[in-house]
Amino acid sequence: MAAVVLGWNPATAFGAGPGPADYRSAASTVQRTGLYATRWRVGHGQQFDPGTDAWLFAQGRHGRGLLGHGVVASAPQPGAALPARLGLLAGIVFDLLLAPGDALPAEGLAELVPELNWNAVRSTGTAVPAHSEVPLRTAWTTFLRSRPAPADWLAAADPTVPLPGSLPQDSLRTVGINRYEHDPDAVRQCVSFHGTSCAACGLSMDRIYGPAGAAFVQVHHIVPPSAITPGYALDPVADLVPLCPNCHAVAHLGIPDPYTPGELRRMLAAAGGPVPGGGPITGSVATDRELEAREDAARLRDNG
Ligand SMILES: [Zn+2]
Ligand SMILES: [Zn+2]
Repeated sequence: MAAVVLGWNPATAFGAGPGPADYRSAASTVQRTGLYATRWRVGHGQQFDPGTDAWLFAQGRHGRGLLGHGVVASAPQPGAALPARLGLLAGIVFDLLLAPGDALPAEGLAELVPELNWNAVRSTGTAVPAHSEVPLRTAWTTFLRSRPAPADWLAAADPTVPLPGSLPQDSLRTVGINRYEHDPDAVRQCVSFHGTSCAACGLSMDRIYGPAGAAFVQVHHIVPPSAITPGYALDPVADLVPLCPNCHAVAHLGIPDPYTPGELRRMLAAAGGPVPGGGPITGSVATDRELEAREDAARLRDNG
């Protein structure tokens, strides 16, 4: 089996520890760090091989639906607190846990993934039929992508990073990310203070791509790695700046520390690239939008 559905009643504890067995705290851990590891009680003789997709399915009177995704991290073993006759504990690492009430409704699943009996999902795990693995993945990804975007921006999500559950495990590798740059609350505070224009080149994604780009800006953590000591606490306004994806990538080419927005502006100026607040780009007349972008960037620079 390469995929399993884990039934869970939100009125009961979430997972079998270690750590709090509280769904909201698990979901907020995933939001902050990208992962939440727990153990799950499964039956004997089930194939829970590491790497198996684990889909979380909410059941019970508060509504039924697909609520999260994870991966089997360790095969089932007897647990210290669980007599073997009651089952084994498999290690599960969840990489996405939606807010309760945001699940992909069971009615839709019955239609899109009819081979799996969604009325008979067991808490100890129900195997996903091989033919249903792709339809399930597609239904989930389509559902995630079609949910209404936050009204302001989507900065926390780098669209080049696959959505959890959208690709089979053997298509993925684990990449460490700077979590300060992906903390939704910190990003929100950074962008609400600094705006969405790139602090280096002034580009604002919506001016280039229209609505599809409007919600996307990256934030860059300007604190040098050597300054991140154990007591370090992020200041989202002082320690983060908005950058467009190009400038952000180039910033991280700096050695040993990433280039600062000021260094990036000097690089752009030296190379004849777009410089906020500088003269019109050679060979063109600045449009109102360009002027506006430069004003945004200049304001940012003056504030910073
Ligand atoms: Zn830029
Ligand atoms: Zn960065």
